[in-house]
Amino acid sequence: MNPIRTSRHVANVTYAVRDVAVWAQAAAAAGRSLISLNIGDPCLFDFKTPEHVIEAIVRGLRANKTSYTASEGTPQALAAIRRDAEDRKGIRDIRYMLIGHGASEPIEILLTALLNEGESVLVPQPGYPLYQAVLAKLGVEAIPYDLDEANDWQPNPAELGAKIKPGTRALVLINPNNPTGSVSSKRILEELLEVAARHELVVLSDEIYDRMILDDDVTHVATASLRSDVPIATFAGLSKVWLGPGLRLGWCILSGPDAVTAPLAAAMGQLARARLCASHPVQCAVPAALEGPQDHIREVQHKLRRRRDITVEQLARIPGFSLVPPHGAFYAFPRVEFPISDIDLVRGLIEHTGVVLVHGTGFGQKQGTKHVRIVFLPQEPLLVEAYEKIRDYCRTL
Ligand code: PLP
Repeated sequence: MNPIRTSRHVANVTYAVRDVAVWAQAAAAAGRSLISLNIGDPCLFDFKTPEHVIEAIVRGLRANKTSYTASEGTPQALAAIRRDAEDRKGIRDIRYMLIGHGASEPIEILLTALLNEGESVLVPQPGYPLYQAVLAKLGVEAIPYDLDEANDWQPNPAELGAKIKPGTRALVLINPNNPTGSVSSKRILEELLEVAARHELVVLSDEIYDRMILDDDVTHVATASLRSDVPIATFAGLSKVWLGPGLRLGWCILSGPDAVTAPLAAAMGQLARARLCASHPVQCAVPAALEGPQDHIREVQHKLRRRRDITVEQLARIPGFSLVPPHGAFYAFPRVEFPISDIDLVRGLIEHTGVVLVHGTGFGQKQGTKHVRIVFLPQEPLLVEAYEKIRDYCRTL
């Protein structure tokens, strides 16, 4: 029998964050101790899923909430998501909601339900690589649009509009952004929605970090609160704001005119039914998370703010690094200028210092520029140690 022939779509599926882990494992096997600034998982550091969220899951398990649920989710979890979307986020005209395995699954279900081979989708560059990975799998073209580093990493609506061509179906917004930590202003969002309305694009608004805002003068605006004549899919979940990435629970809220969104909602429903449902006991945590105590959010913001400030201060002291300070999430995306590629920089750092970053190429970056992504979740002494090691290594380049 011949070796198994695999799908040609897989060749284009990459995910730099996990690729780096392979290099890190090799360094660890060779005896190097690692400082991991590569994975956006708060629970690897001094952040814990809130007790009342865990309790709700345990209670669910004890009450035998282990059957399948409706494909979209339990009525209680869906009702809590709707209340939060309407009351806190200001989203109206909700037409469809889907709870899935992390935010990742509803994102994949929506893209699969929407797109056909040969079509295209606008994705932010830099941006979270899941979108490119799913589009590659679907045989759909990702059209990168640049976030402008000179303008606080904001998208440029006119530049983005000029990239639209026949067959462009959707616009992906990631706000706050991974990897830049930038937060989009209301004005920019309104301009982007105007472009989407003019070209009949479906807007995917990834708001998984919406309550991780690090500055008092920065406000997160839910894209879908701004217009109800544009179909907008808002994504969120328990992974980041509720410090439970391994719970694997997220959701999609589809809003917009009923007649416009109905076919997409129906197609998503078909795909949702084929995969049965999300974890039943974990869905029991959704009302507790959204409507229970929210004290942890202030504590998380406080820690992240301090760690962001340390990152800004420390990177300013490393020749070759320049950083646009992040305002949200827990990522910094400094520009690096050294006579080696960003990939070689990341590999060199792992090999010689044990500090693990991710190369900017993994998120997309404007041609001719080089960056690295830093996760600034670790406690302060470890962060400072990492920055000192980076500085010492970069002196040798
Ligand atoms: N969207 C963004 C912007 C992310 O950064 C991540 C994870 O890092 C996800 C989606 C995936 O979320 P989940 O863990 O809920 O699948």
